[in-house]
Amino acid sequence: MTKAKAYAALNAHSPLVPYEIERRAPGPDDVQIQILYCGVCHSDLHTARNEWKNTLYPSVPGHEIVGRVVAVGDQVSRFKVGDLAGVGCMVDSCGHCHSCEEGEEQYCDHGFTGTYNGPVFGGENTFGGYSQSIVVKESFALRIRHDEKDLAGVAPLLCAGITTYSPLRHWGAGPGKKVGIVGLGGLGHMGVKLAHAMGAHVVLFTTSASKIEDGKRLGADEVCISKDPEQMARYAGQLDFILNTVAAPLDLDPYLQLLKRDGTMTLVGAPAEPHKSPDVFGLIFRRRSIAGSLIGGIRETQEMLDFCAEHGITSDIEEIAMDYINTAYERMLKSDVRYRFVIDMATLR
Ligand code: NAP
Ligand code: ZN
Repeated sequence: MTKAKAYAALNAHSPLVPYEIERRAPGPDDVQIQILYCGVCHSDLHTARNEWKNTLYPSVPGHEIVGRVVAVGDQVSRFKVGDLAGVGCMVDSCGHCHSCEEGEEQYCDHGFTGTYNGPVFGGENTFGGYSQSIVVKESFALRIRHDEKDLAGVAPLLCAGITTYSPLRHWGAGPGKKVGIVGLGGLGHMGVKLAHAMGAHVVLFTTSASKIEDGKRLGADEVCISKDPEQMARYAGQLDFILNTVAAPLDLDPYLQLLKRDGTMTLVGAPAEPHKSPDVFGLIFRRRSIAGSLIGGIRETQEMLDFCAEHGITSDIEEIAMDYINTAYERMLKSDVRYRFVIDMATLR
């Protein structure tokens, strides 16, 4: 066991505070990583404040982790001391159910072990990336091929990147397809960049008029202010696919109306309160679907990281010190992030 400095929520109502945790000594198939940067996902906030009603306290959030390997077990073959490595939202799964065998560990029949607050189905709590170090099975560590100078912008790929990449791939975003991205936050801005890089025609739907120029710079071909019914009406029946990243309850019907026949709107945002029930007629008259998608498997996460390295894609970030985290959460709630806070973990030492 080694001790590591961290930041934790001790209950749902008070700010995160400095906290000391223990990390296990690396076993034969483990890598130990000194965390250099950790992205701040809206799921961290949902968890710290028990908005999903399943938080185990103390809670150390953070699942967009990049760092340097400082120790490896003797059966580890893909990493050596000094390598860069990433850890996303999962640190374990059963390894033998149908989903695990297909490399879709996030849908493990027995419930994957989250990087933090996992397993929520029982067992010991896990502590995430708002800390100096982490020990993880080699099979759940990701290789990083980006230039080291871009490392802070790579961290958010480990959740925001894969959570948007996986559904965009699954529902066939690419040339000839019109893809809508709803919400320009951490996930949404990665969705815009990735859908653009995949060759789709991208329409961004935002509530923030101040984000129009950024939306275009990030790769949106068109930007629609979703609060304006006249602008929304222009896209009626136009879109093949919509990726909805909004972290708050919404009326989905105005978005469903934008789908073509057979179009799908996939929800990745996970608000604490449910969305308004969709109008059944909006679905059946054009055989439209509403779907959901959870992060992505380890193999696909590596594919996404390699895709991003090849296309020069990183997240647009605002680097922060660890003790800024509570202010960062408040700003995230006001949609005031451009477009991901990333903690410089050197500020925790
Ligand atoms: P974020 O950075 O806070 O971005 C959310 C964006 O949604 C905001 O920037 C804003 O964009 C829009 N928005 C917020 N409140 C809204 C409202 N009341 N009405 C309409 N739009 C609103 O959050 P994030 O980190 O991207 O996470 C988004 C959600 O995805 C969270 O619920 C998170 O827990 C979830 N998540 C899910 C998965 C998964 O596997 N499915 C993985 C990670 C995160 P505009 O200013 O452009 O309108
Ligand atoms: Zn996340």
